[in-house]
Amino acid sequence: MALQVLLVEDDRELRRTLRDALLVEGYEVHISGSATDAQAVLRHAMGSSMPLDLLILDLGLPDGDGAELLHSVRLKYKLPVLIISARHDEDHKVHLLDAGADDYLVKPFNINELLARMRVSLRHRGTSVIAPQTHYQCGLLHIELAKHEVRKNGQAVHLTPTEFKLLARLVRQAGQVVTHRQLLVDVWGAEFVQHTHYLRLYMAQLRAKLEDNPNEPQLLLTETGVGYRLFEES
Ligand code: CA
Repeated sequence: MALQVLLVEDDRELRRTLRDALLVEGYEVHISGSATDAQAVLRHAMGSSMPLDLLILDLGLPDGDGAELLHSVRLKYKLPVLIISARHDEDHKVHLLDAGADDYLVKPFNINELLARMRVSLRHRGTSVIAPQTHYQCGLLHIELAKHEVRKNGQAVHLTPTEFKLLARLVRQAGQVVTHRQLLVDVWGAEFVQHTHYLRLYMAQLRAKLEDNPNEPQLLLTETGVGYRLFEES
């Protein structure tokens, strides 16, 4: 059965372009040009026999801010939310991710990038109830969280407990950005939320152990001012 996507975007041209691309990929696409209409579609669809599987949400809507819609969606539903926005402001991105957005894309973006992020978000939300991601492979790097095993080029890599915890947190959400706050809270604890220097230090250690060239990371990617993303082939 086709996955149901609600696309909330007031720019008609962009809406049509995205809709067409999603249809080609086999998604069933519902569209909305305003926050009020989106609320109505959500209410109707989520109570129906074919609930929505994913929400693509523009922030600048004629009758309100998409961020408010995100808040109300998060209170009621579990579906993944991908933000599309023209805003580059890092604090704003962090705020949205911490508020429960699954990912964001800054306009103009590549449609293939959107499709890839959608697949990642769907997989994470879809499998989170059954089993979180515990296996990661990219090139010659293999990670098995359950066995506490990290191998690069066939060789075991020794990680300290904190390095492993940090890496594990990124593996569980591979392909998605994880904010500094989320990492600090989950790895060190809520009282360490201001200690971003811990993150920089441990990320440097992980890169030294896992990257071919730690100065040009290909796996542990920096999202400037926002957080980190573990690269994942899509
Ligand atoms: Ca807009």
